[in-house]
Amino acid sequence: MTSEIRYDRDNVFAKILRGEIPCDKVYEDDHVLAFRDIAPQAPVHVLVIPKGPYISLADFSTIASPDEIAEFFAAVGKIASDLGLDDPGYRILANHGSDGGQEVPHFHVHIFGGKKLGAMLPK
Ligand code: AMP
Repeated sequence: MTSEIRYDRDNVFAKILRGEIPCDKVYEDDHVLAFRDIAPQAPVHVLVIPKGPYISLADFSTIASPDEIAEFFAAVGKIASDLGLDDPGYRILANHGSDGGQEVPHFHVHIFGGKKLGAMLPK
């Protein structure tokens, strides 16, 4: 089954992309949207999403074009930089599937910053 068929067009990020739900936008270009997380887990918590219908990194990395993938990760770096996070630093994270704790089935990268973030995973 292709990703296009498996992709849930009613997921919350699909609704944000269609303008059906508002978001606190921090960046947008032809292929990428970034907005603040509704339940921030750090002083800065931004979500970066591709505009295409990709469920997770598994199909973004295999279905998206090389240009789209390169532009997406360049945008992640630019957004973090524009948010003033290059110094003192930040963390990016992407959850995939149930073990990864992915809640929204549209590929996204979290950017966390604004404080010392501590251990990478809970002990
Ligand atoms: P994940 O667990 O990696 O799928 O993360 C999904 C994230 O989406 C969570 O951090 C949620 O707080 C966030 N989220 C859910 N709905 C919204 C929304 N309407 N606007 C912004 N962030 C949202």
